[in-house]
Amino acid sequence: MKAAVLNNINQNLEIENLIQESPKENEVKVKINFAGVCASDAHIMDGSATLPKPVVLGHEGSGTIVEVGSNVRNLKPGDRVIMSFVSNCGHCFHCRTGIPNLCSENLRIGSKLFDDTFRLKKQNNQEVYQMGKIGLFAEYSVCPSQACYPIPKEISLETAALIGCCATTGIGAIINHQNVKTGMSFAIFGCGGVGISAIQGAKLLNASKIIAVDIDDEKLEFTKKFGSTHTINAATESPIKKILEITFGNGVDMALDTFGSSGTSENALESIRRGGYAVIVGLANEGEKIQVDAVSLVRKQLNLTGSYYGTTSSHETFRTIVNACRNNQLDLNSIVTKKFPLEKINIAFNELNSGAITGRGLIEF
Ligand SMILES: [Zn+2]
Ligand SMILES: [Zn+2]
Repeated sequence: MKAAVLNNINQNLEIENLIQESPKENEVKVKINFAGVCASDAHIMDGSATLPKPVVLGHEGSGTIVEVGSNVRNLKPGDRVIMSFVSNCGHCFHCRTGIPNLCSENLRIGSKLFDDTFRLKKQNNQEVYQMGKIGLFAEYSVCPSQACYPIPKEISLETAALIGCCATTGIGAIINHQNVKTGMSFAIFGCGGVGISAIQGAKLLNASKIIAVDIDDEKLEFTKKFGSTHTINAATESPIKKILEITFGNGVDMALDTFGSSGTSENALESIRRGGYAVIVGLANEGEKIQVDAVSLVRKQLNLTGSYYGTTSSHETFRTIVNACRNNQLDLNSIVTKKFPLEKINIAFNELNSGAITGRGLIEF
């Protein structure tokens, strides 16, 4: 079974022929159709995030069920599925209280399967981890059945792949925020796959203003067809000054940092109105800190939160997004601008890192 393996940080992924075990109880085998080229994979490749190695990366994708293990009753061969990079255990505190996207058992066991063992090994018998218990830069994935969400036939496998990470992360952060209201004004920092999704999430809520902020003019231009009402190039003008100007001196109701860095998060916080909401969605480098002015936080009654994988149950966000796609209220297919075969995966990540991919790139199997 061919897969792209990360053996060490700051090295190319290597296409290797791995040995794959059959699915065990509550597990399935999925033929991968598409896998997204996401910054979260790049962070692991360059060491700014950590996973044990060797590991098959790839956490955003779609596939088709080819085999089910014992006790799997909700999936069958032929089902087309969204892949979730958080498999919920169903019985921890977070699963029981309605936030299975934060499942503590999933986090504890990490890049192995729930029985604490591996399904992949090299020809020399060295065991290989799977990112998010799925590892989608591979022809097949043996994973927990909870990782798979079946989709209706009118949803394309490209759209399904994006729902697996960037669409759910960006749209969910907005529509599942407990204080969100129709007609609010938004600033979206970062216009990659998550940022464009967030813009569409804001549009879904009939936002009064959707201000896109990035440092790349081509990416800013691209956001206009998804609903941005204003664009700001933060490399040439101050986003905070400009956002205050656009909002008549008040600031936006809600700002999202979809990029993930101290600078963009601090800008997001400074661009919201008194009593407004700043949400950090993108992942900064491990250990990075943001500076918050303690007095402003109180006097301006600012709200700063994080949002992981759409804020609530990711399967529930999948359902909402699938329905919105069926009603033509969202256009995820058009976010995909480039496709690469598995053999060109290192070129795909070089292009992502250099900013050459506008929208989202997919690995096509
Ligand atoms: Zn991702
Ligand atoms: Zn759990």
